[in-house]
Amino acid sequence: MSERSAKIIVQKYGGSSLADAEKIRAVAERICAARAAGADVVVAVSAMGDGTDELINLARDVVGDAGPPDPRELDTLLSTGELVSSALVAMAIRARGHDVVSLSGIQAGIKTDSRHGSARIANIDPTRIQGELARGRIVVVAGFQGLSDTNDVTTLGRGASDTTAVALAAALGAERCEIYTDVDGIYTADPRLVPDARKLDSIEYGDMLELASLGAKMNPRSIELGAIHGVPIMVASTFDDVPGTLIHGEKLAGSTTMEIRNAVTAVESETGVAQIAVSGLANREGLAAELFDLVAAEGVNVDVIIANDQPGVNASDLVFTVSEEDAERAAAAAAQIPGSSVQTRLELAKVSIAGTGMQNSPGYAARMFRALANANVNIHVIATAEVRITCVIDADRLDAAATALAQEFDTTQITTTPSATDARGRFGSEHPVTGIAIDRSAARISVRGVRDRPGIAAGLFEPLADAGISVDLMVQTAASEGMTDMAFTVAEDEADRAIETARQQKDVEFDDIIRDSGLAKVSIVGAGLQYTPGQAAKMFRTLGDQGINIRAVTTADIRITCLVDAESIAAAARSLHDAFDLAASG
Ligand code: ASP
Ligand code: MG
Repeated sequence: MSERSAKIIVQKYGGSSLADAEKIRAVAERICAARAAGADVVVAVSAMGDGTDELINLARDVVGDAGPPDPRELDTLLSTGELVSSALVAMAIRARGHDVVSLSGIQAGIKTDSRHGSARIANIDPTRIQGELARGRIVVVAGFQGLSDTNDVTTLGRGASDTTAVALAAALGAERCEIYTDVDGIYTADPRLVPDARKLDSIEYGDMLELASLGAKMNPRSIELGAIHGVPIMVASTFDDVPGTLIHGEKLAGSTTMEIRNAVTAVESETGVAQIAVSGLANREGLAAELFDLVAAEGVNVDVIIANDQPGVNASDLVFTVSEEDAERAAAAAAQIPGSSVQTRLELAKVSIAGTGMQNSPGYAARMFRALANANVNIHVIATAEVRITCVIDADRLDAAATALAQEFDTTQITTTPSATDARGRFGSEHPVTGIAIDRSAARISVRGVRDRPGIAAGLFEPLADAGISVDLMVQTAASEGMTDMAFTVAEDEADRAIETARQQKDVEFDDIIRDSGLAKVSIVGAGLQYTPGQAAKMFRTLGDQGINIRAVTTADIRITCLVDAESIAAAARSLHDAFDLAASG
C-alpha cells in the first residue's frame, strides 16, 4: 500500500444521488467544492437510479426461458451502468471548469478474482490514478467493477460501489472515504419505526459491521474492508449539508491483500468456557428476564445465550455460557428458578468463524459443521449470526477444531479472544448498546428430539445448503441424555421446502419437525455488551414488560438477538430504544 498522504479524499455517490441530470450537476458541485478546498479528490460512482435493476431485467428478457443470462456477459452489461454515470459526472465537473478524467474499473487498476457477479478485489494498482491526481485532475472511477485474472470484466456484487470506494481509499492512503447517500448518517434505530432514533456522530467498525449485516444502510463488506485497512468512513447525505456519521476505530489485524478473498476472514477461539443448561422450565413470559436477572445479580457476565421455546409444548430450553470461574455462581442463580434442573459443563471452548462473505451464502455453516465432525469434534451448542457462527465444544478438541476450520476455510488467521473476565473493565459500561436492528419476518423450523452424535449439525444443514436454502438464525441447545433440539429460521416462502428437505435427509434421527410463522428478529448491538453484566436480562425484561413473548434467543459476540412475533416488532424496537437510553446523546 502507498504511503498515507494527508490530502486525498475518496467520495462515493450512490444511484439515488445520480438519478437524473439535475442530481448529477449537484453532485458535481459538491465534488468541485471539495477540490476547491484543497484536497485531491477521487470519486467512485454507482449506476444512475435503478439502472442496474433495469439492465438485469433487460438481460432476463433477452434470454427468456433459456435460463439465467451468461455470467460473463451479464457482468459486461452491468458494468456499463457505472460507466455511464462516471462519464456524465466527469462532464458535469468539466462544465464547472475543473480538470477531470473518468476511468473504468479496469483503467483505475482494480484487479479482482474471477467470480462473476460477486468478485472480490485482489489488488489495486494506483499508478494511473496517482498520475492523474499529480496532473491536478479530479478522478471519477466507475464503481462496482474490475478486471479478473483472466482479463474479463467482473462486477463486485450488488451494492458494491461502496466497496470500490473504500478499496480506493485504502490503496491511495486517502485521509478518509466519504459515502454520500440518501440518508444523512447511521441511526440508533430505523427512524421510520422509532421516532426518537438519534443520528450517531461516530460508530466503531465492529458495531457498524453488525448493524450493516442486519440491514442498516451500508454494505457490510465495505465496513470490513475499512476495518482491515483502517480507513475512516464518513456516511453523509448528498442532499443536505449536515454532518454525517464517522465509522472508525482500531485497525484490524493486518492483511496483505486488498480484500480478503475468503468469505471467512477469521477463525476465533476462546478457552475457559463453561456451559449452563437449564431445563424443565415452564414456557412463560418473563422467564428469560427472571433467570438472567438472577445471574446478573451475582455479577456474572453471560456470553453466549441460546434459547428456543418449543412450539406446541409448554417448555423452553435455555443454555448459556460464562467463564469457568463464574460457573458455580451462575448455576446456583439458575437453580433458584422453581422447577428448573441445571446442568453445568466445564472445560469447554468456543470456536467461531467470522466474515462478511458468509452472509446470504448458504453452506458456510454446513461446511463448518462438517469440518468439525470430520475432525471428531462434538458440538454442544451452536449460535449463529449473519457474519459469525459460533460452536461450543470440548476444550481438549479446540486445537483440532481451529486447525480443521483454518484449513477448510483457507485462513491463516486464528485469533485467540481473551476470556470475558480478562477483558472486563476494558470498556465503560455506561452505554453498552450502540443501536437496535430489526430484521424481516421469518419462519422458524424446530427439529425436536434429535439423537445427539457428532455430525448431526452437518447432516441436517448440508442438505439445506445443497438445496440453496438460506438459513438464518441457527441454534442448537445443549444435549441432555443424548437428545438435543435444533432450530433455524428461513424466509417464509422457503419454509415448506426447508421442512421437506430436512425430512428427507437420512443422517439425523429425530422425533418431529415443527414450523411457526410470522416471526421477526430484534437485536441490540454494542461492543460494550460483552463486558457489561445484566444487559441480556435488561433486554428480556424490557420485552417482557411489553407483553412480548421471546420465542428464541441467540447471541453473537457484540449482539443479542431475540425472535419475537412479527407484529410486535415496532413495539419491541421502541421499548428497547428507550430502555437502553439511546435517544439521549452520549
Ligand atoms: N449499481 C450497483 C448496484 O445497484 C452497485 C451499487 O449501486 O453500489 O448494485
Ligand atoms: Mg445501486
